[in-house]
Amino acid sequence: MTDIDALAARLRTDLAADQVVSDRQELRTYECDGLAHYKVIPALVVFPRSAEDCARTVRACVAAGVPFVARGSGTGLSGGALPHAEGVLIVTSQMRRIVQVAPEDERAVVEPGVINLQVTRAASPSGYYYAPDPSSQQICSIGGNVAENSGGAHCLKYGFTTNHVTGAQIVAPDGELVRLGGRAPDAPGYDLLGAFVGSEGTLGIATEVTVRLVRLPETVRTLLAAFPGVDEAGAATSAIIGAGVVPAAVEMMDALAIEAAEAAVHCGYPEGAGAVLIVELDGPAAEVAAQFAQVETFCADNGAFEIRIAADDAERALFWKGRKSAFAAVGRISPDYIVQDGVIPRTALPEVLHRIGEISRGQGVRVANVFHAGDGNLHPLVLFDDGVEGEAGRAEEVSAAILALCIEYGGSITGEHGVGMDKAKYMPRMFTDDDLDTMQLVRCAFDPAGLANPGKIFPTPRLCGEVPGRHRGTHPAQQAGLAEVF
Ligand SMILES: Cc1cc2nc3c(=O)[nH]c(=O)nc-3n(C[C@H](O)[C@H](O)[C@H](O)COP(=O)(O)OP(=O)(O)OC[C@H]3O[C@@H](n4cnc5c(N)ncnc54)[C@H](O)[C@@H]3O)c2cc1C
Repeated sequence: MTDIDALAARLRTDLAADQVVSDRQELRTYECDGLAHYKVIPALVVFPRSAEDCARTVRACVAAGVPFVARGSGTGLSGGALPHAEGVLIVTSQMRRIVQVAPEDERAVVEPGVINLQVTRAASPSGYYYAPDPSSQQICSIGGNVAENSGGAHCLKYGFTTNHVTGAQIVAPDGELVRLGGRAPDAPGYDLLGAFVGSEGTLGIATEVTVRLVRLPETVRTLLAAFPGVDEAGAATSAIIGAGVVPAAVEMMDALAIEAAEAAVHCGYPEGAGAVLIVELDGPAAEVAAQFAQVETFCADNGAFEIRIAADDAERALFWKGRKSAFAAVGRISPDYIVQDGVIPRTALPEVLHRIGEISRGQGVRVANVFHAGDGNLHPLVLFDDGVEGEAGRAEEVSAAILALCIEYGGSITGEHGVGMDKAKYMPRMFTDDDLDTMQLVRCAFDPAGLANPGKIFPTPRLCGEVPGRHRGTHPAQQAGLAEVF
C-alpha cells in the first residue's frame, strides 16, 4: 500500500467514504483553476463538511508528511489552487452554510465555500450587502476571496477583502483549529488576521469567516461615457479623482475590449468609441446628485462624445454586463489569451497604455485592456493563437514585459489575482532577497513543515530549515523553469 493509499484509507475512516476521491478520472476534474494552462492531477481530493473535517484532514496529511492545497471554486487566475501531484486537494464546496447574518452588528458569519454573491443575497432583505465584488462573484467562494484578498469594481471606494474581514477560524498547518480576529473591528497584538488575508492558502485553511456588512446605499447612479481613446478617458478619470470625488467604481475598456464584449454579450456601447468609462456613484441622494453632475462635466470636458445615464436597474445592468463579461468575451475574438493583472499609479495610465501599445505592435500580439481605472489596476488581455507556432511564446513575452512596466512605474505585479504559481518567478523583480526571506520567516512561523500549498507565491520554495540569504548553486525550481534569479 502506498503512503497515499494509506492516507486515503485513514481519511475514509475519519470522514465519510464519499468525502474522499481517489479515482484518477474524477481527480482530473480538479487538475487546474482558472489559469488552465497549468495542470497537475492531485493524488487525492477531500470534501470536508465541517471545520472539524478540515482539521482532521490536515492532521492526517501532517502525520503522513503529505502536502495539501485548499480550493474554493477554482476560479483563481494565478494557479493558486493548482494541486500538488503528491498532495491532497481540500475542496470547500460542501461548506456552504451561512451561519449568521447580524445586521445589528453589521456582520455575517459564513463557511468558506459560500459564494460571494450569496452573502449579499442573504443580507439584502435587512438592507445590507457585502461590498467586495470580484467580477467572478457569482461563482467564487469567500474562502478564495480571503486567500487572494480579492478586489472588484467597487473596491475603489469600499476597499478590498482585507477591509471587510474582521475574523476567521482557520485550520493552522499543523491541524489545530485557531481563531484570528473576531467581530470587533480590530484586535490587540499582532495582526495575524491581516497576515492570513491574502496568504493564498499558505498559512492554513479558512473554515469560517466573519465579514463586515455595509448598508445598502440610498441611491446608485451610473453613467457610461464614450471617448475617442484611452488618453481622454484616462484624463477624465484623473480629473474626477483629483477633484475629490470618490466614485464607487471607475472602470475603463479600450476599443479591442469593447469589440470583444459586443461580440459576446451585445452590450450596445456607443459606436466608434476608442474607450469607454463606466462611472458609478452611490450614497445619500443629495450628495450623489451633486457629484454626478461634476462627473458628467469632467467627462465632457475631457472629450467624451457620448454620455449615457442609466435610466433604471436594467440599463445599469447592461452597462455592467459588457464590463463584467469582458474576460470571457475575449474568447470571441481570439482562440487563446492570457489575463494579466498589474498595478500602476493612476496618473501613469496614459503613458503606460501607450507603452503597452508599443510592446504589442512590436511583437505583433494584440492586447485588449480592461481595468479598474480608479485604482490603476490593469487587466491587459494578451491575445494569441496556440495553433500558430511561436505565438504563445510571444504572448508570454508581452505579458512579462507588461509586468516589468508596472514595476518600472512604481506599481505591482498583481493587483488582486494573487501571485500563485504563475507569478512566483517575478517576485525577485519586486523584492530583495532580504524582503523574501522575511516573508518566508512569516510562512515558517505558521507552517514550519512547509506542507500548506507549497510552491506558491515564492520563487524558490526554501525549506524552513534553510539559512536565509543568497542561494548557492541552482535551485531545482530554477532548473524546472519555475523561478528566476536576477
Ligand atoms: C471571469 C473571472 C473574473 C474575475 N474577476 C476578478 C475580480 O474582479 N477581482 C478579483 O480579485 N479576482 C477576480 N477573479 C479571480 C478569482 O475569481 C478570485 O481570485 C477569487 O477570489 C478566487 O476564489 P475561488 O473560490 O475560486 O478560489 P480558488 O481559485 O479555488 O483558490 C484561490 C486561492 O485561494 C486558496 N483558498 C481557497 N479556499 C481557501 C480557504 N478556505 N482557505 C485558505 N485558502 C483558500 C487556494 O489555495 C488558492 O491559493 C476572476 C476570475 C474569473 C474567472
